[in-house]
Amino acid sequence: MTSLAETPGEVWCHRYIYQLTFSTRGCIHCAGKLVFKSSRSYAWCKTCRVKISAKAVTWLRNSNLSYRQIYQLLWCWQKRKDPGFIHDAPGLSYTTINRWYERFRAHLPQDDSRKLLVDLVEIDESFFGKKRYKNQKIVIGAIEPQTRRIKLQIITDREAETFEAFVESNVASSSVVMTDSHPSYNDLDCLGYTHYSFNHSKGEYTNTNQIENLWGVIKRYMRKLYGSIPTKHLQSILDEWTARLNRPSLFISPENYLDACLFRIS
Ligand SMILES: [Zn+2]
Repeated sequence: MTSLAETPGEVWCHRYIYQLTFSTRGCIHCAGKLVFKSSRSYAWCKTCRVKISAKAVTWLRNSNLSYRQIYQLLWCWQKRKDPGFIHDAPGLSYTTINRWYERFRAHLPQDDSRKLLVDLVEIDESFFGKKRYKNQKIVIGAIEPQTRRIKLQIITDREAETFEAFVESNVASSSVVMTDSHPSYNDLDCLGYTHYSFNHSKGEYTNTNQIENLWGVIKRYMRKLYGSIPTKHLQSILDEWTARLNRPSLFISPENYLDACLFRIS
């Protein structure tokens, strides 16, 4: 699928979600064989005669959107389309679109806990939101430039203990670590890291430019979706970007995401 116009039809989308939901077992009441009719919005148990809908047993419940609309929203979210883009297509409100984007984020799998291992790792911190609106948050991040795996975390201050705790839990001690010249990074050598710091005020950006770029990309993305940087969505946006970079296969197609993230009965 390379454009919204290529979204499969309602029957196809419904059947796909139905098969994901029920293929591993039959009826949720008696495990009997289910019959699926494309023309109906539910499957029907041959044994206990109960009607079961795929929506009702997954987190797609309580939605009056068609399966095809859910597919379209999912594809738009995967491809980073802003609500204005979709608004023109299936005729959904901005609120609905942003609520579904939030749902897709909420059902991403947890990031694996593996530390960044490749020998070179860039680390940096950035402010999100505005201080004068009292909603500013600090995010610290690490990236392996070679693999583009990342780790992101909201932190409460820029003390050495905070930076060190992040680095120790996310970066293997055999790594070479690149940071800016913030003094809270000064003792990373004592923790066993080979540490190089670069002074941004002297224009030395080249060795942390991947993580610097990532801040720009995430902030632009938030402005595109919300028109600002609403820090109440920050954690879920960071989780989304962690998944985008660490598990890119989830973003290839709606099927890829649904295979991994739709609740299954098992
Ligand atoms: Zn049954």
